[in-house]
Amino acid sequence: IEEKFDAIVIGAGMSGNAAAYTLASRGLKVLQLERGEYAGSKNVQGAIMYASMLEKIIPDFREDAPLERHLVEQRFWMMDDSSHTGMHYRSNDFNEEKPNRYTIIRAQFDKWFSSKVKEAGATVLCETTVTELARDTSGKVIGVHTDRRGGAIFADVVVLAEGVNGLLGTRAGLRDMPKPETVALAVKEMHFLPEEVICQRFGLTGNEGCVIEAAGTFSQGMTGLAFLYTNKESISLGVGCLVSDYAKTMESPYALLEEFKNHPSVKPLLAGSEVKEYAAHLIPEGGYKAVPQLFGDGWVVVGDAAQLNNAVHREGSNLAMTSGRLAAEAIFQVKSRRDPMSAENLSLYRKMLEDSFVMKDLRKHKDMPALLHTNSQNFFMTYPQLISAAAQNFVRVDGTPKIDKEKATIAQFVKNRSRWGMVSDAVKLAFAWR
Ligand code: FAD
Repeated sequence: IEEKFDAIVIGAGMSGNAAAYTLASRGLKVLQLERGEYAGSKNVQGAIMYASMLEKIIPDFREDAPLERHLVEQRFWMMDDSSHTGMHYRSNDFNEEKPNRYTIIRAQFDKWFSSKVKEAGATVLCETTVTELARDTSGKVIGVHTDRRGGAIFADVVVLAEGVNGLLGTRAGLRDMPKPETVALAVKEMHFLPEEVICQRFGLTGNEGCVIEAAGTFSQGMTGLAFLYTNKESISLGVGCLVSDYAKTMESPYALLEEFKNHPSVKPLLAGSEVKEYAAHLIPEGGYKAVPQLFGDGWVVVGDAAQLNNAVHREGSNLAMTSGRLAAEAIFQVKSRRDPMSAENLSLYRKMLEDSFVMKDLRKHKDMPALLHTNSQNFFMTYPQLISAAAQNFVRVDGTPKIDKEKATIAQFVKNRSRWGMVSDAVKLAFAWR
């Protein structure tokens, strides 16, 4: 490719597609490069997709996007080895004309998103890996080198949307490698079941969906979560824990997934299913403090590559789409003013991100990742066990006077966590959450 582009977007995941679509639909000349055979072929997500962030990019996406189920019920479970204590929220309000959250299958969804990027006028090249950023003598990024034959491809600005590993950006010295304590390794399986069986097991009608998110003893005291999401004819489920915790405990992610799948609360939900897909992927979980430099001379970084992921609320794709869109809008503004794509001018992207929910949410929870990591044994092992025991003691009727049951429960908490420990945990949690 000899010609010069207004922008090159590296990666065709959520953030790259959002950026490429927004740039191309505003009339910029865009080249998008994706190493996978097709957009989505390399991508892994649970996956819940948040509609309002996509609406800002493609308002009528519901007309043809491959959506699985819209969510009407969310369950949060705290588990020990034989029980779960749950908080369930279900509302018919979510059966609205334009539902708020959907389950999706990324391989299909990204392909659809990519078709929209092409319709908007961008050139999309798959099976093309960007191997290096091209720079001028001053260090400004002026394009990319790829694994295809030929020299560099040039552009006014390069959007790095290369996902959590971010190898290009780190190799180019734009940011550090993600640290083991700031990334989780998640493993995921797809269990296929007939549509009517899924509806019956989860109490759903038509395209209604239900998701379960769980923490507890299956993670062996490591900072981690499990999820189970209903699709039309399949259930996605997985477990993710911090890489540094795996290194310390030498636990295997697949062993944890087996533990979760065989839990008596989960097993009946999967009974008779056929497992057709396995995947493993990293999730950035360092939060606000792990966000690197977001722009420089001739470049911006978006999505997981910029560690823009809200692990506390288990949101990633919406931050990816929003950062891709905002980066594109900032680039468009700089371009419209005929200003150079300098770090100074591209700092507009950071400002727009700061004004959005992305940075506001990450900043709000900036101390949560470290708190959960340093107290993982308490939050992911001791409390789930104590809460399960307390719940069982509460509901079991065996002639023990209620006052004695209460005393026994309090004694258990004090023995295992001490009064001071519990007060300290509560205060730390409240401060980190505020
Ligand atoms: P990606 O989707 O990873 O896309 C990066 C793209 O860049 C890929 O297509 C890759 O092939 C390409 N690429 C990389 N390097 C190069 C290169 N050198 N040259 C060319 N192309 C390159 N988020 C949610 O909102 N809801 C969920 O339910 C949810 N569940 C998740 C469950 C799991 C198991 C995981 C792993 C993540 C989950 N997330 C979820 C997070 C979400 O998947 C990510 O935040 C989101 O995919 C980030 O999008 P992205 O475009 O930044 O990166």
